[in-house]
Amino acid sequence: MSALFIRVILFMTMLMLPRIAVLPEVQAAPKVLYLTFDDGPSERYTPEILDILRRAHVKVTFFVLGFRAEQYPQMVRRMRAEGHEIGNHGFYHEYILGKPDNWVRHDVERASQVIQKASGVNPVLYRPPGGLIDKHEMSVIQQAGHPVVFWTIDSKDWMATSNEEIITNVMSKVKPGAIILFHDGVSNSRHTAQALPTILAKCREQGYVFKVLPIHRTSLKTALVSTVPGTKAQ
Ligand SMILES: [Zn+2]
Repeated sequence: MSALFIRVILFMTMLMLPRIAVLPEVQAAPKVLYLTFDDGPSERYTPEILDILRRAHVKVTFFVLGFRAEQYPQMVRRMRAEGHEIGNHGFYHEYILGKPDNWVRHDVERASQVIQKASGVNPVLYRPPGGLIDKHEMSVIQQAGHPVVFWTIDSKDWMATSNEEIITNVMSKVKPGAIILFHDGVSNSRHTAQALPTILAKCREQGYVFKVLPIHRTSLKTALVSTVPGTKAQ
């Protein structure tokens, strides 16, 4: 074997090395899902949902309502104590679309204060009730220090008549990086609680892991999804 031939082989090996090094990393890129629960805490469903999440070792993000945090501060404390992220969903779930700036600021701030009192932590993320918000209102809230987060998959649990519907809605659309909207504080949340163990198991079978939404704005670039005017959830 000539020295030149060996050098060529070595050179080619070096060329290939970076690909060998990068490939396993790409293949191992985590399939992350961000589960989010709005409109709670509710006395009826939040403890059940928290129990399911604890048993499954899954952390999620709760977008809490101010007036409910005031009613059930111990549940907000429990969310935090069990490692979940807590976001702000306004005080009374009043739609902010078309409201004056001062009203918008006051609603977010009032909810923040109650959530902070209950959990000891100031919520960073904000999700508008119903997903209804315009660009200007969004900038008002972001300037107050709250990145606005929507969702990419609506489980439609707020209108579901069975847990199977919720499972189908989620599993037919699930994909890496998805932010999934559920509710722990509406009358249909019992279906959510019933559907949740199956959804967690099916997603895990497909290799997904669950994370809380990152609260830093830079990490949220992919999480910020434009709302469709007229989009309406609970
Ligand atoms: Zn809501």
